[in-house]
Amino acid sequence: MRPALCLLCLLIGPLAGCAPIGAPQAPSLDATVILRDAAMAIGGADRVLAARTLRLEGTAKAYNLGQDLSPESTGQTFVGDYVRRVDLANSRAVLEHTRTPTFLYFAGQQPQKQVQGVDGTVAFNVGANGVATRAPGAAGIDRQAEFYHHPLTALRAALDPAARLTNARAVGAEWAIDVTMPAGVALTLTVDRATKRPARVTTRAHNPYFGDVTIATSFANYQEVGGLLLPTLLTTKTDRWTTMQVQVGKNAVNVDVGSTTAPAAAAPAPAPGPQNVTVDPRGQGIWVLGGGAEGSVLVEFSDHLLLLETPVDEARTLAVIAKARSIVPGKPLTHAVNLHHHVDHSGGVRAAVSEGLTIIAHRNSDAFLRELVSRPRTIAPDALARAPKSLKLELVNDSRVLNDATADVRLFHIAGSTHSTTGLMAYIPSLKLLIEGDDYFVNPAGIYPFAPALLSEITRRGLAVEQIYTIHAPIVPFTDLVQAASVGSRGGAR
Ligand SMILES: [Zn+2]
Repeated sequence: MRPALCLLCLLIGPLAGCAPIGAPQAPSLDATVILRDAAMAIGGADRVLAARTLRLEGTAKAYNLGQDLSPESTGQTFVGDYVRRVDLANSRAVLEHTRTPTFLYFAGQQPQKQVQGVDGTVAFNVGANGVATRAPGAAGIDRQAEFYHHPLTALRAALDPAARLTNARAVGAEWAIDVTMPAGVALTLTVDRATKRPARVTTRAHNPYFGDVTIATSFANYQEVGGLLLPTLLTTKTDRWTTMQVQVGKNAVNVDVGSTTAPAAAAPAPAPGPQNVTVDPRGQGIWVLGGGAEGSVLVEFSDHLLLLETPVDEARTLAVIAKARSIVPGKPLTHAVNLHHHVDHSGGVRAAVSEGLTIIAHRNSDAFLRELVSRPRTIAPDALARAPKSLKLELVNDSRVLNDATADVRLFHIAGSTHSTTGLMAYIPSLKLLIEGDDYFVNPAGIYPFAPALLSEITRRGLAVEQIYTIHAPIVPFTDLVQAASVGSRGGAR
């Protein structure tokens, strides 16, 4: 039987928000009740608030977001022992991950120890030499938020009487509440409606490459420790990409966690100075624009200019574009080539689009670049966010010749590359110069896992290369690549 409508609804039609008489009423949601139940479900608010320290130990898998083989690949990970030492009372934590790459890596396959700390709003890293340095950029704000990506830290923050609890809501099989701490840090705590346990903590952040992102850590496989239930599986996602998975072997509460304070040596990093763009004229209308971690190459055509690579970030790419325009002021800079999708090589694409440049890239970068250019940037707006422009994108399949009476540049897909599926190399016949991203670059480890595939591709294409510009390092003779390819992943060259 259908429930009866109220008298007013019968007279003038059903009213929004008016439940039929006899229909079950949705329970009104109360953030404090959801929070109290969540605390109760893992041992009670008293135990949660009495916890002074947390030490978790296990293994972790970090994903290679933005640097994997293809834009949507998730196969490349760094795996190994993981320890998190948390001083709950003082909002300090140190994370130690001894990571071994599970894929071909330019630094080889040996473990690398990564030590990251947060002390209030100070984020610091400790290098292999034991020296602490302040983490750059917005890392302090981001790590302060990440500190709360655990049920204990999140619940303690929410139970603080000074915290503001808002927007209690049902989302599928979960309850969610928004928590704003007195210092302004905001998170969303999601609670499983069946178990009442915390299911997830979500925060928003600015990612230097992807702009606005949502970082969410899900909690599973709760186990009892000292009267508290704590998760033993923590999975972190940045938007749709899984970025970290921690498998906890042992949780310990109220144990000695050692020092977690920021070392005094972790002094604030100096503000970045002006970009240094050096100009190396190679003749034939070709200039190498160096001076940064990654370089670019300017090519002069009869009636326009083209830039190979828009690297690193907005600041770098805008400086390179300005330098390029100053070198040949009489011709418009109209095109920029992205040599592969990795974030340090595509980090300036948005800046190039903001300057009106048409982007040329391999077709496997199509969806990635379209998303990169259209993603929202409200937390830290860049030039493109402030004055949006649509992406003009020209895609290369196997190869493309860019030539006129003045210049001749040939783009080839590095088919079979073991570094990326999106790689292009540019060959300039007049200089017998090859320009490529990371398939070969001089590096201190003396390991060249991607060089054999690059060399075989150059050979297959029949290119008469005499010199290579590897973007990350100075121009080297072609014979260096031949030697590097013979060394490959074994190491030992240079
Ligand atoms: Zn790369």
